[in-house]
Amino acid sequence: MKNLFDLQGKRALITGAAQGIGFLLANGLAEYGAEIIVNDITSEKALAAVDKLHQKGFRAHAIPFDVTQKTQIETNISLIEEKIGAIDILINNAGIQRRHPILDFPEKDWDDVININQKAVFLMIQEVSKYMVKRKAGKIINICSMQSELGRDTITPYAASKGAVKMLTRGACVELARYNIQVNGIAPGYFKTEMTKTLVENQQFTQWLCQRTPANRWGEPDELIGSAVFLSSKASDFINGHLLFVDGGMLVSV
Ligand code: NAP
Repeated sequence: MKNLFDLQGKRALITGAAQGIGFLLANGLAEYGAEIIVNDITSEKALAAVDKLHQKGFRAHAIPFDVTQKTQIETNISLIEEKIGAIDILINNAGIQRRHPILDFPEKDWDDVININQKAVFLMIQEVSKYMVKRKAGKIINICSMQSELGRDTITPYAASKGAVKMLTRGACVELARYNIQVNGIAPGYFKTEMTKTLVENQQFTQWLCQRTPANRWGEPDELIGSAVFLSSKASDFINGHLLFVDGGMLVSV
């Protein structure tokens, strides 16, 4: 029971992991013993991230591809499974944000947000779980958001996509739990990353955020590691279809 959180011998594929939350989770899971496969859309960025992991003595590989493209997914997942080894843990992390008032929201930005944040999660679950089903084992973690539950000005398509990821998590849980695959979500509150840089620098927003959050502050990205290790490990083997909010209490306060 002492080794409930140990990830030795496990292999984790994390999408969009060259920077931000994905890169942090890569470091966190590696600290607990997992071998990491860094996916991102740009190969240079993925290779640089893997270089940093190697410098810390972690086992890691860069497998760059576009998670919105079904044929790229099929080719690369089969390559990983055949040449590197079984994917035990999948973290669907790649995501983007576009901000415009709903009345002016460009259709192209809607398509990009929905394709990357929502459709890609479906395609990745579908392909990776084909292999997990055969092994009757797997952990899938979808990175959701406060906007899986709450609307917010100028980011309606993002909220629509993250609400859909919540239901993808529940739907996939219902269909895959019988194969000993646990599908869960992590819903980060507001964390200091590249994606939120402009908001962090906006004093008015930061003041509002601190008042609105019971913990009274921004989240530090490495505070997400515990939830990811938990949902990747044996400690969560009977936890299915759950969304773990890591938000300083924001969701439960008015
Ligand atoms: P980030 O720093 O922008 O990192 C996302 C990574 O995904 C980038 O390296 C990006 O590459 C990559 N990516 C984009 N499109 C891709 C594609 N089609 N295929 C593969 N990789 C792709 O974002 P983050 O803040 O770490 O956010 C990570 C996840 O957490 C997202 O799902 C986000 O919605 C969620 N989240 C973040 C916060 C927060 O406070 N930051 C809060 C709640 C939820 P490019 O930069 O080259 O596009």
